[in-house]
Amino acid sequence: MKIYNTFTKTKEEFQPLNPPNVTMYMCGPTVYNYFHIGNARSFVMADIVRRYLEYKGFHVKFIMNITDVDDNIINKAFEEKKSTIDVADFYAEAFFEDVKKLRMKEANFYPKATLHISEMIGVIKRLEEKGFAYNVNGNVFYDVSKFSDYGKLSGKNTNDLESGARVDVNEEKKNPLDFTLWKKAKDGEPSWDSPWGKGRPGWHIECSAMSTKHLGKSIDIHAGGNDLIFPHHENEIAQSEACFEQKFVKYWMHFGFLNIQNEKMSKSLGNFFTAREVLDKYPAEAIRLFFAQTNYGGPLNFSDELLNSAQKGYEKILNLAEKIEREIKLNSRSAVIPEFDVKKYYSDFEKVMDDDFNSPQAVAVIFDFIRATNKIIAENDNIDSNFYHGLKQFLKKTAENVLGIIHLDGLSNELNPNIDNEQIELLIKKRDMAKKEKDFILADQIRTELINLGIILQDNKTGTTFKKINVK
Ligand code: AMP
Ligand code: ZN
Repeated sequence: MKIYNTFTKTKEEFQPLNPPNVTMYMCGPTVYNYFHIGNARSFVMADIVRRYLEYKGFHVKFIMNITDVDDNIINKAFEEKKSTIDVADFYAEAFFEDVKKLRMKEANFYPKATLHISEMIGVIKRLEEKGFAYNVNGNVFYDVSKFSDYGKLSGKNTNDLESGARVDVNEEKKNPLDFTLWKKAKDGEPSWDSPWGKGRPGWHIECSAMSTKHLGKSIDIHAGGNDLIFPHHENEIAQSEACFEQKFVKYWMHFGFLNIQNEKMSKSLGNFFTAREVLDKYPAEAIRLFFAQTNYGGPLNFSDELLNSAQKGYEKILNLAEKIEREIKLNSRSAVIPEFDVKKYYSDFEKVMDDDFNSPQAVAVIFDFIRATNKIIAENDNIDSNFYHGLKQFLKKTAENVLGIIHLDGLSNELNPNIDNEQIELLIKKRDMAKKEKDFILADQIRTELINLGIILQDNKTGTTFKKINVK
């Protein structure tokens, strides 16, 4: 199995440090807002990687941190006249709700920065003792000139980095690339006692301290969006390797940006849609399919057109899945079991996923499978339900458990007893009227209302059709 390593810039054979265990750390959200659909792309792709490793039989320990103390949170608390704890707790809860809605498998642990201050102080103290950190009036900085390998992840030398990077200018620093390990407290800001006086940790030290605490000094995979390669991950290496004197991470994995009109979607640019807004318009499975259809490392443009087309793809999977469920319920015991080599599809799926998690090719295998099985179903009458059990198992193991682009559980149950087709048709008419009257807010509200009831709408040239999906 191959994995692309940002550190070596090559695809390498995946050999975890301590098989069958795999340790994986993903840089999580800073909780001062709902996370956007760009963040969601990185989260979902990390989830797919983790799920595929589990499919392969690895025991994955997956950790995602929560940054709950930082300038943005402090500013937000000030704007909203709330405490930083209230702001961070509120958006951390929203984060948990949204990742659940995105059908991400729960991490083994979501460490919060504010609950690991003593570990961070421990790492900074050790760095200071070893001569890698210096204290100026209660602000502690990392001395980049002392770490000879600085720049080895981003592949740049310190001169290039100094001229090209947006690094904070701060007259207390010896070198512009030096970064903050401990920030002296200002009035009204959250702070903790430390050997350097009251203050709070810098951002980079969080991940070094928390990944070591929960996964050990050397870990297998450390992941995050491309924007984190420099300075965040470069600085994590400098901190951890100077402190613990061993290789920090075996495989560095980075996710491409989700762009909007060819510009990175970001909170600071304001060009974002929150994941929950998008989840109000599209089922999680369609959103995941949209992500999975592009290689994790490259850029991906966000548009309603692309999401609508992902939704159509999702409906193809859903159609087959529903057919399978109905047939399994009928439990026909005829002798007709058509020839179908399902093993080939497992092996195709594994072949492409083994090649650095090539999810677009994996999606293509699923659609080949759907085409082939639909053809068989059309050409044969009265098929034995054992055939359908085999199909279901394939979809369950690949499309559901790895990619998360279908959710089979409960598909065969009465989908929504509280709403009948007539009521749905009525709401569709109401939505059409609203659209004609250019009341797009009402039209969207109706669509969202239906999605929450497990009904997805499909606008065609001839009108609107609907489909019932399973909602938990
Ligand atoms: P943040 O809350 O900004 O620290 O970001 C949380 C995670 O989302 C990090 O792993 C980022 O690298 C990632 N991320 C941020 N913006 C994007 C984007 N537009 N596309 C993909 N990933 C992103
Ligand atoms: Zn991090």
